[in-house]
Amino acid sequence: MPEFDGHEHVVFGHDAATSLRAIIAVHSTVLGPAAGGCRMWPYETTAQAVADVLRLSRGMSYKNALAGVPFGGGKAVIIGESRKAKTPELFEAFGRFVDSLGGRYVTAEDVGTTTADMANVAHATRHVAGLGAAPGAAGGDPGPKTARGVFLGLRAAVKFRLGRGDLEGLKVAVQGVGGVGYHLCALLAAEGVRLTVADVRPAAVQRVCQEFGARVVAADELLALEADVLSPCALGGVLNTQSIPQLRARIVAGAANNQLAHGQDGVALQNAGILYAPDYVINAGGIISVAREYYGGTEAQVLADIEAIPGRLTEIFERARRENRPTNAVADQMARERIGSEPHQLVA
Ligand code: NAD
Repeated sequence: MPEFDGHEHVVFGHDAATSLRAIIAVHSTVLGPAAGGCRMWPYETTAQAVADVLRLSRGMSYKNALAGVPFGGGKAVIIGESRKAKTPELFEAFGRFVDSLGGRYVTAEDVGTTTADMANVAHATRHVAGLGAAPGAAGGDPGPKTARGVFLGLRAAVKFRLGRGDLEGLKVAVQGVGGVGYHLCALLAAEGVRLTVADVRPAAVQRVCQEFGARVVAADELLALEADVLSPCALGGVLNTQSIPQLRARIVAGAANNQLAHGQDGVALQNAGILYAPDYVINAGGIISVAREYYGGTEAQVLADIEAIPGRLTEIFERARRENRPTNAVADQMARERIGSEPHQLVA
């Protein structure tokens, strides 16, 4: 399969009693146990599920390597319709499947799965994160942590591209004001940013308008808006051959996963003079939280680790400028270099 990238271990799990059909892909354990969420999706064919889990697990190796967490890359998929086929027993069976790998793979929630599902997984394995957290301990909803990292990364991008140390009066267009986008808007508004937002859920936009004085535009207008920064926080694939020629922002810095439809779209952004903050580097706050939760850390440590995101981005921006290459290509190369290096250690 074209998605196969020397994955260490790909395993199918089937449980007749609960109708569980799942696949776990361990891409790399060079830097630690392979960590990545469990996606529940009604794939039409097994081949589609395999392709997805191969692609996503490799992406987690890159993300975890550049997040500086002691995790390799892995991912799981459960084949099924999350709105209909969920039962506590299904997730317990999935937990036994995870446990059968003896800690080579650590799971968490992803598209189609929730904190409540992970609580059921935790009945059968300790190799799970993204659970509720006690006050002061790492864990809980990763959304606000992801938003914090995106905010710091966006500030680093502004410093690099616009030469400004503050955000006062800058125009930022945020696509998607859900779990991450809402918290990002709160942080930006506190710095005097002029926000324009779009979301397909009217209640979500109403909240950011009321609380932060954001201006609203239709979802299909947002990408081409005149703004200093475009912050995609909804869907993947928004940066593509159709949208890039229309962009008027000078920086793209947002939380959405897989923002580039294809790796080549990074070249088009570079040619257009738009600074792109590679998605998996800027949105690493969530996995940083998961890592501290799994290894038993505190919320204060999570916040301290997130402070490293802007420095990492600036390193990528500088190298991209020096080598005249797209930032996404530089990030991928740096991730591959790290996977070939010694395991990461968390700083105490
Ligand atoms: P979410 O589902 O809470 O929010 C996404 C928002 O985007 C929703 O309000 C939705 O209505 C809106 N939306 C959907 N289609 C849209 C469109 N066409 N135009 C405008 N808005 C649209 O998800 P989230 O947790 O906030 O995550 C946002 C993105 O960040 C996703 O791509 C996710 O994979 C990525 N991400 C999230 C985390 C995290 O910690 N939650 C971590 C890393 C990456």
